[in-house]
Amino acid sequence: VKKNGKNGFCYFSNELDENLLVKIELERDLRKAVQRHELELYYQPQIRTGNNDMVGVEALVRWNHPTKGTLSPGIFIPIAEETGLIHEIGTWTLREACSQMRKWHLAGGPLIPVSVNLSSHQFHQPNLIEYIRGILEETGLEPEYLELEITESMMMDATVSTEILQQLNEFGVKISLDDFGTGYSSLSYLKQFPIHRLKIDRSFITDITDNTSDQAIVATIISMAKHLNMDVIAEGIETKDQLEFLTQNACQEIQGYYFSKPLPALQVEESFFIPQRI
Ligand code: C2E
Ligand code: CA
Ligand code: CA
Ligand code: CA
Repeated sequence: VKKNGKNGFCYFSNELDENLLVKIELERDLRKAVQRHELELYYQPQIRTGNNDMVGVEALVRWNHPTKGTLSPGIFIPIAEETGLIHEIGTWTLREACSQMRKWHLAGGPLIPVSVNLSSHQFHQPNLIEYIRGILEETGLEPEYLELEITESMMMDATVSTEILQQLNEFGVKISLDDFGTGYSSLSYLKQFPIHRLKIDRSFITDITDNTSDQAIVATIISMAKHLNMDVIAEGIETKDQLEFLTQNACQEIQGYYFSKPLPALQVEESFFIPQRI
């Protein structure tokens, strides 16, 4: 229904109207979320097949909204990016992830790195290196225990990206290429950028047990990563059959519900660090 609102605004449907309202409301609440301690990091274990060792954890942000319950990043990260709040949220996330990891290390937990998702706004912010260095110094985490997850689309401007990535690499921070295979960039950047790990996107894994194209793509990515001396991890493993395909194709690292969902820090300790007794 098209109707003319006050001030000459035009609403095309009640549904749009409502979506817009929800968004405005969320945006308003998101501005206060950090100070009100409503954000929480969950951690998803990354596992080495073969011995089931945890080789890392990915930090994934959640918003414990006062009335709407737990909101997933798919809902509020885009709003944060549009409004610029991503800088505050991103800083909180990085600091929290590094400080949690440091705590675990000090308490005798496994010496594994934490992977943090970086938004393109953060990746392109001026003096990224100084910013990351500051957070690591503040939290006491060694650079080698931080892995930044970036996506192919962030590297469209190859000259800029090469410089940023080289500086991060020299500093000792690891870089992982998230959602690998879903972007539009050419493969040529793989030889010029210091990338430590490829993360095979879940969309290639979902049907891998019966889709021969997915099987070919995944097997090729694994073999390419090996030849390029990069690590490779498959995301979104939910079943034993998917795991078997990856194991048979020599993919050593996996992440997915089959092993564990993302969990609050305390639950990671209880479920995975018990032998070390934190
Ligand atoms: P992503 O980086 O690709 O993260 C993987 C997503 O897949 C996560 O969703 C994770 O919970 C989910 N996942 C993991 N294993 C499985 C599985 O076996 N099956 C299925 N169906 N899903 C699985 P989540 O936590 O909702 O995050 C969604 C996206 O939000 C992330 O995608 C990432 O792009 C973004 N995100 C999350 N945390 C942050 C953050 O701190 N900063 C930024 N900038 N983005 C974030
Ligand atoms: Ca990720
Ligand atoms: Ca991903
Ligand atoms: Ca994604």
